[in-house]
Amino acid sequence: MNVYDFYIPIYEMFDGITPLSKDCGKLCDSACCKDGEEKTGMLLFPHEEKLLSNVPFAEIEDSNCEFGEKEVAKLFFCEGHCNRKFRPLACRIFPLMPYLKNGKIKLIMNPMAKNICPLARSLKPKDLEPAFVKNVKKAMNRVLKLKDGRDYILMLSEIADDFTSLNNKFTK
Ligand code: SF4
Ligand code: SF4
Repeated sequence: MNVYDFYIPIYEMFDGITPLSKDCGKLCDSACCKDGEEKTGMLLFPHEEKLLSNVPFAEIEDSNCEFGEKEVAKLFFCEGHCNRKFRPLACRIFPLMPYLKNGKIKLIMNPMAKNICPLARSLKPKDLEPAFVKNVKKAMNRVLKLKDGRDYILMLSEIADDFTSLNNKFTK
């Protein structure tokens, strides 16, 4: 299956399906689309860069994270606006992320979202729109079927753990 056939049906799962039934961007002035002082960017799922490499509203760069057999994860930097049809999967599932523990995948609030997202700070995944949570689960199950999908989710989980332990050190 090519990257287009893999990702477009996953993208379509999030057409009109968002974390809340109302537009949560109104709660926070779409904080997750704005860079703070530091340029951040969204990590792309495996091979997603092949689909998004020509979108005019963003740039893709190598991150310093690796997964699988030395595959370098890519970062997607937008200008704070996008053609929503081509927003990356990480934007569609935000503020959730897949997390691998003891060989099992679950969905968690992305700990890195907590600094910017009021939903991530105050709610649990089960409090979000059921159709959204269901489709994030479905999407992650499809990612798991990729050869390097599990390794990618393991990498994300390790990044989340590192962030949480660093954050705990500074907030003690
Ligand atoms: S930061 Fe959170 S509440 Fe705000 S638009 Fe993004 S997902 Fe919605
Ligand atoms: S690609 Fe779109 S949805 Fe994702 S952060 Fe940029 S503006 Fe927001």
